[in-house]
Amino acid sequence: MDAGERLLRLHREPNRGDLVHFLSGTEAGGDEALFDFADRVRREHVGDAIQLRAIVEFSSFCRNDCLYCGLRRSNRDLQRLRMPPGEIVVQCRRAAALGFRTVVLQSGEDPFFNREAIVDLVGRVKAETGLAVTLAVGEKSEDEYRAFFTAGADRYLLKHETSDRGLYESLDPGLSHERRIDCLRALKRIGFQTGSGIMVGLPGQTLESIADDILLFRDLDIDMIGCGPFIPHPATPLADAAPGSENLTYRVVALARIVTRDTHIPATTALAVMVGDSGRANALCRGANVVMPNITPQPWRQAYEIYPNKGRTEVFDPALLEQLRRTAAELGRFIAEDAGQRSKRAGSGDARRPY
Ligand code: SAH
Repeated sequence: MDAGERLLRLHREPNRGDLVHFLSGTEAGGDEALFDFADRVRREHVGDAIQLRAIVEFSSFCRNDCLYCGLRRSNRDLQRLRMPPGEIVVQCRRAAALGFRTVVLQSGEDPFFNREAIVDLVGRVKAETGLAVTLAVGEKSEDEYRAFFTAGADRYLLKHETSDRGLYESLDPGLSHERRIDCLRALKRIGFQTGSGIMVGLPGQTLESIADDILLFRDLDIDMIGCGPFIPHPATPLADAAPGSENLTYRVVALARIVTRDTHIPATTALAVMVGDSGRANALCRGANVVMPNITPQPWRQAYEIYPNKGRTEVFDPALLEQLRRTAAELGRFIAEDAGQRSKRAGSGDARRPY
């Protein structure tokens, strides 16, 4: 069977065997056929618009101890910082002024930001900016998720990291894989546009488990899928592990697009940090349709060092938006004007209605 036939079969009937085949990259010309097919599926299902989301990283305090992450609580080298809520609102206003329609509020699992603090924050951001609000603040109870939704949060990101339960539980001590998946199901039940994702190239991760990750995105009806390479952090137990591969990351992006079709898939920051700007452009031609510029100012930016060099740029430079516009034009694409709700959920008329 040639690559073209296999891709058609995979598109029609996603299956582990074909996923592993393309993840392995062993077929001559297989990558080219895969990337080209993914780009066509992207165009057919989400069009040529590139969605922009501004990220604000508001706290690097974390109660968890994940072996891969620079924010793990055992990392005593990191100076922890927490933005005061008033400052978070200022940053969201800045995002709106820069032309973003949606903001992602991300943090470690910081007990200071309890139910009341998040509800309060979401209410203020919605009232003052009208932006679509995405939260990425970790595992909470269904009750808390519901309170965030009622307060006006639109979307929630919680990556399942890997579908390999044993690997997940060995890398995230104290966390349960089942609970993680339960959180994703709860978020979907409540009505959030729900994001998940994985790290590509975790030590001990198999291609079979990555195939299962992609099938899981589909089975959970995940709306947003963030897949970036694992990047070892020197102050973690995985300091000496090999980083994830750039090409394998593109294959995951492409296959996630082919299997899930109309989801939002970012060209991740981890890819851009590891490879440079070409990583972003490549991902956008291989299935991705979202870019998430990090607008966190210093000193909070350098405190949020999940992996090395993440906080390296001094400040967000609005010239990046111009550059993204140029990149988009070079790729025959354009920057979206709407908030980028997944259309299947919003109903056809709503999809392009700004928030
Ligand atoms: N507490 C929030 C935010 C976590 S940080 C939450 O649970 O969602 C966001 C993501 O960074 C994680 O989900 C993980 O996929 C990624 N990440 C952490 N350490 C990393 C590393 N060393 N290399 C690449 N990505 C990493």
